[in-house]
Amino acid sequence: MAQTTPNHTQTVSGWAVLDSSGKAVPHTFKRRENGVDDVTIEIMYCGICHTDLHFARNDWGITMYPVVPGHEITGIITKVGSNVNKFRLGDRVGVGCLAASCLECDFCKSSRENYCDQIQLTYNGIFWDGSITYGGYSKFMVADHRYVVRIPENLPMDATAPLLCAGITVFSPFKDSNLVDSPGKRVGVVGLGGLGHLAVKFGKAFGHHVTVISTSPFKEKEARERLGADAFIVSSNARELQAARRTLDFIVDTVSAKHSLGPILELLTVNGTLAVVCAPDQPMELPAFPLIFGKRSVKGSMTGSTSETQEMLDVCSKHNITCDIELVKTDNINEAWDRLARNDVRYRFVIDIAGKSSNL
Ligand code: NAP
Ligand code: ZN
Repeated sequence: MAQTTPNHTQTVSGWAVLDSSGKAVPHTFKRRENGVDDVTIEIMYCGICHTDLHFARNDWGITMYPVVPGHEITGIITKVGSNVNKFRLGDRVGVGCLAASCLECDFCKSSRENYCDQIQLTYNGIFWDGSITYGGYSKFMVADHRYVVRIPENLPMDATAPLLCAGITVFSPFKDSNLVDSPGKRVGVVGLGGLGHLAVKFGKAFGHHVTVISTSPFKEKEARERLGADAFIVSSNARELQAARRTLDFIVDTVSAKHSLGPILELLTVNGTLAVVCAPDQPMELPAFPLIFGKRSVKGSMTGSTSETQEMLDVCSKHNITCDIELVKTDNINEAWDRLARNDVRYRFVIDIAGKSSNL
């Protein structure tokens, strides 16, 4: 169990959603003192993940208001606990979805703590001291160092922030399916949003043929020209789907809304794998025939471990992979959320937490 100081004595300003209206408002709250295993991080940037919207609007029925969202965090260390050797004051660091885990189970002991049964998330979780966790839409945070990663020097803090969730969430299934070091496979990416556009970048960096499957025909040009996709299928086009039947080895599904997995499975070759990372609020249709006729597998994936996140950042450093972002000021969070809900972002909003608000 993480050693923390139970005292929540530090006052921090941030942005919270207070009720199911789903609107973010300025909010002052308390954080724990910096414990022996903790670091305090002055937050510079925080990405806006679609999960933040799911929580703000209570899509999953599990939101504990007030919720301070944000799990794509970059910043600078301002305090270091006495047990912490790997970080120093001034280090450039990041925090993703994980706040704590039991540290004792087989998953925790084998660097797969993201599957620990007692995982505590960066926001809307209940920490070991009984307090509710609050995320990165705030000026600073206190984080257990075991869930903090180092940002490589050549990566910018703003366009790197979304890698802490969107990046690792698609990197992890690539790694799990042995697609990082074995080029030449045919990879599909369903949904060209925050997660999806990074999946395209990883797929190309790892030497694969990448097909985007999208509801948005207007994204084709930039998918091909800017992101390097090799093929583009409009998911409502039956002819295009038919032509691509049984062509893909692996697909990652990032669509945030309810949809059927049947037409996606038909694109997989025999024995192909569909990795579901998206989390729509309604169950998705999973018809049996495309599964059994193609001996296909569907598997889920939940973010990544801390060590895997560090590995992903180092891979991004090597391949110069960052997120395509639109920077927003803190008083434009609601506008950004509305645009994200309308599928109007290329491809991730990042909040300039340390910058001035446009009202100042
Ligand atoms: P996003 O930026 O909004 O991208 C989602 C994409 O889905 C859109 O760009 C759009 O792509 C497609 N889409 C199709 N129909 C849609 C509809 N009716 N409404 C909205 N989008 C639609 O979202 P994201 O941040 O990448 O997150 C995607 C999902 O992954 C969310 O459900 C999120 O909660 C989940 N997630 C899971 C994990 C995990 O650990 N497993 C981590 C992070 C996020 P096209 O225009 O190309 O169709
Ligand atoms: Zn996220």
